[in-house]
Order: sequence, then C-alpha cells, then structure tokens
Amino acid sequence: MLKVVLLGTGGMMPLRDRALASLIVSWNGHSALIDCGEGTQVQIRSAGLSFKSIDLLLLTHYHADHVSGLPGMLLSIGNQGRTEPLVIAGPPGLERVVSGLRVIAPELPFPIELKTIDVKTPETIAYSGLLITPFALRHNIPCLGYQLHLPRAGKFDPDLARKNNVPMPCWSVLQHQPEVECDGQLYTRNMVMGPDRRGLTVVYATDTRPVPVIAEMAKDADLLVTEAMYGDPEKLPSAIEKAHMLMTEAAELARQAQPRRHWLTHYSPAMRDVGEWLPFAKAIFPATEPGVDGMSVDLMYTDEPNPLESCAPA
Ligand SMILES: [Zn+2]
Ligand SMILES: [Zn+2]
Repeated sequence: MLKVVLLGTGGMMPLRDRALASLIVSWNGHSALIDCGEGTQVQIRSAGLSFKSIDLLLLTHYHADHVSGLPGMLLSIGNQGRTEPLVIAGPPGLERVVSGLRVIAPELPFPIELKTIDVKTPETIAYSGLLITPFALRHNIPCLGYQLHLPRAGKFDPDLARKNNVPMPCWSVLQHQPEVECDGQLYTRNMVMGPDRRGLTVVYATDTRPVPVIAEMAKDADLLVTEAMYGDPEKLPSAIEKAHMLMTEAAELARQAQPRRHWLTHYSPAMRDVGEWLPFAKAIFPATEPGVDGMSVDLMYTDEPNPLESCAPA
C-alpha cells in the first residue's frame, strides 16, 4: 500500500486555509516528503503523521515556497530521536541551499546524505523498495518532478519451478531473495516467480509549464498531482511568463496520461475560489479533483484494469 497525503496546496505564500504545497508518501514504515515550505511541519502534525518515518526529502526546486521550512523540519525530526541518516535529494545547488538553511540548525542527532540530481539525465533512485524517478520540468529555475513507484513481484508459480528443476527447499527462499545456491547450482527468482504484477505509481509535478514528460511519467499512474496555479484562462500570459500552468493545461496532461486520480495543487493566493474554474478542467479530464490541505488516499494493489481506460483518447 502507498499512503499519500497532500499536506498543503498553496503556491507562493501560505494562507490561513492553504499551507504551502507539499506531499508525503508512506510505504512499509518509511515516508518520502516532497518539498518543505514554511509550515510544512505543522501540516505533518495536523495529519497525525510521524516525523520519525521521514527517511527521504525530495526537493523540486529552490524557490522559498518549497524549501523555507527545512531548518524547523530537521530540528523537529531530531527532537523525535532520529539517529538514522536522512537523504535529501534535489536539483543542482542542493549543497549550497541546505548548508545555507542549516546555519540556524547546525546540530542534528542524525547525519544528512545529500544527493544532487542531474537535471539533464536524472537517474532512478531506489530506496527501501520504492523507485524514485526524477524528471526535468520547465520552470524559471531548474525544477524536477518525481515519479514514485512501488513495484509488485509476480506470483509464485510451482509449475514454473518444476519446469526449471528448482529443488523444493529453494522455493520459499527464492520468494524472498533474488538467488540461492543449492548443491553447487545457482537458482534465480525468475525460475519460480511469474511476471511482475502491476505496482503503484504516484507522480508529482509542480512548478512548471505543461511538458510532455509529465504525461509520459503519469501514464496509467494511480495518482497524478499537478500544479494549477491559475484557473482563469485569461491568465495564460502570466502562466507563460512565470512558468506555471492553468488548471486546464494540467487537465490536458491528465487526459493524455489517463491516471486513475488527478489532484490539483499549488494555487495562486489570488485564486480564492478554485471551484469557480474547476468545470473547465473537468470538461477535459472528468476525474480531476481540487486538492485541499490534508486530502489523503490509501492506494492499494489491484489487478483490475484502469476503469478510466475505456474513455482513453485514441
Ligand atoms: Zn512554487
Ligand atoms: Zn517555483
């Protein structure tokens, strides 16, 4: 299972009912936090989540609304007694930004491992069973989106195991580890397990203009979260100038990708009523939902086909 909580939905500045945009994804006792604007730690507390399980902090870019909550967050994680390393990943400039913010949080009881991501050729990061694939967005400074994928192994297949002459004592071993040696012979997992089953995928993309890679990464995803800085179509010149998206542009990406769910986030403080513009987005991709602070979903494994595929574009 992947638990996803949209911690905040505000862009630029926090409002009383809209904390700054960030998202937390939890699996098997671990959590990855995407972005950490001012007040993110308050949202984590409000959602009843633990700081201790945050092993990974993924930063999209270094505008203040995405990183200014970092020192307080690190101190709170430390106060909960963490001693294990915390990984912080982000685009180039990571070391300068983190060391600058840490001037006011120099002493922590846990080590920090920085992982700078090459924006031009980002590589997948594997962390405790989760595969994190960053991808380049188009903002006015280098910015990354993230695809988080929890794979699901195939089913044990006794006929396959017999066909491959795998000794019976190795059957259960190979269900939990990639290979085993028995009587001088090496046996591998694919000799007893069927093909991988559908895993779970979450894609997060903000701040950006619409770029095709977002739809590619979110193809058949369980959840796509995109920014929707502006609702009013007349704001297109501002969206282009500031390298953000209209709600309809976000919906068009979702229409191309056909994710099972599409949540909007990172709203302009000037857009007080998201619902005013939502029908325009829903006309393009009906499963689009307006994100609100604290919105959450438990994504479960399913072998069923995507119910939205019947209305997929040709
Ligand atoms: Zn922003
Ligand atoms: Zn930005």
